[in-house]
Amino acid sequence: MKNIVIIGGGIAGVETACTLAESGNRVTIIERTGDIGGKLNRWYCLFPDFKKADEIKKYLKERIAKFDIELKLNSEVDKAERNGNQWYVYTGNVRYTADAVVIATGYELFDATRKEELGYKIYDNVITQGDLEDKFRAGDFKTTLGENPKRVAIVHCVGSRDEKCHNLYCSKVCCVTGVKQAIELSKFLPETQIFCYYMDLRMYDKHFEELYRTAQEHHNIQFIRGRVSEVSQTPDHRLAIKTEDTLSGRPMKMKLDMLVLLAGMDTKKHNKKVSELFDVEREESGFLKSKDFHIGAGILSQKGVFAAGCCISPMSIKETIENARSSAVQINQYLKTL
Ligand SMILES: Cc1cc2nc3c(=O)[nH]c(=O)nc-3n(C[C@H](O)[C@H](O)[C@H](O)COP(=O)(O)OP(=O)(O)OC[C@H]3O[C@@H](n4cnc5c(N)ncnc54)[C@H](O)[C@@H]3O)c2cc1C
Ligand code: SF4
Repeated sequence: MKNIVIIGGGIAGVETACTLAESGNRVTIIERTGDIGGKLNRWYCLFPDFKKADEIKKYLKERIAKFDIELKLNSEVDKAERNGNQWYVYTGNVRYTADAVVIATGYELFDATRKEELGYKIYDNVITQGDLEDKFRAGDFKTTLGENPKRVAIVHCVGSRDEKCHNLYCSKVCCVTGVKQAIELSKFLPETQIFCYYMDLRMYDKHFEELYRTAQEHHNIQFIRGRVSEVSQTPDHRLAIKTEDTLSGRPMKMKLDMLVLLAGMDTKKHNKKVSELFDVEREESGFLKSKDFHIGAGILSQKGVFAAGCCISPMSIKETIENARSSAVQINQYLKTL
């Protein structure tokens, strides 16, 4: 029986752990927070089918309960050492011996305060899509004026595809998240006008394009190809935005009650410590560098260290689950060579 240590108990970490335990390995998960599930603990309904995030969490809880997996919560790795084919992984005063290590630390949302011109944490009622998920969970959308918003704009590509932030990559799932949130909001607040400001709409997977059509045809969401260049607060505590319609080239102004920023995935700071502990390479973007883009995704630059989920690249939950299972196959192949 081989020993595996997995760092991160989100979707990727738990699915990799269960698949490896299923094939007879002894698995430990080291999770920073007090629970498994990662971002599922924050998201409310999921694209593309509006399934409750809690249902996926229930699946993970039921799956993990079937195996004798050690779950070390509220813990982080402090030190890691390699001795031949073995890894020693330390958390507090506990040392784990591992034949393979899996990094499954996911991502953080881009810190939207870095885009000062968009007014996050400067003006009331400028929020991120993460904050909007909190509002869906609470079922309360009142602005700081104590009223439901009558006009809401959603801004795409905040901190992604952005040279100034040194993040050239596309976070891949925020376009469809914006479309899902616009529909969801219009279900809660049917009288509210909702606008999406986008650069391109990347509806890359099955059912996404249909969701985009539904947003326009059944929920009257207005999609404007344009950039928001400036946000300010009006004397009556509403928001004013200046935009450029990049299709017509015309500048536009709009008054709003709420602005939602679609912050991208960020791993620059997030992956730094763990990649240094295990001495694995990262890409300039911050995502962990796989040995080969085509045939080696999740195999990292150190022997015996693998990765799964969004710490490698942006992916949806479906893709994370697929990626975790395929990482487990690669790890099993590696373990057979020991
Ligand atoms: C705004 C937004 C909305 C989204 N909505 C959807 C959706 O509706 N449908 C969909 O399919 N996908 C959605 N996604 C994508 C989804 O969030 C990811 O696919 C999924 O979270 C990836 O899982 P993960 O386990 O790789 O990462 P995470 O969910 O980030 O989990 C990582 C885990 O690792 C832990 N961790 C981190 N660092 C450490 C450390 N150093 N030590 C120990 N533990 C650590 C964290 O606490 C966390 O539990 C959305 C993404 C965004 C940005
Ligand atoms: S998925 Fe859409 S919003 Fe997100 S970075 Fe890519 S183009 Fe921008």
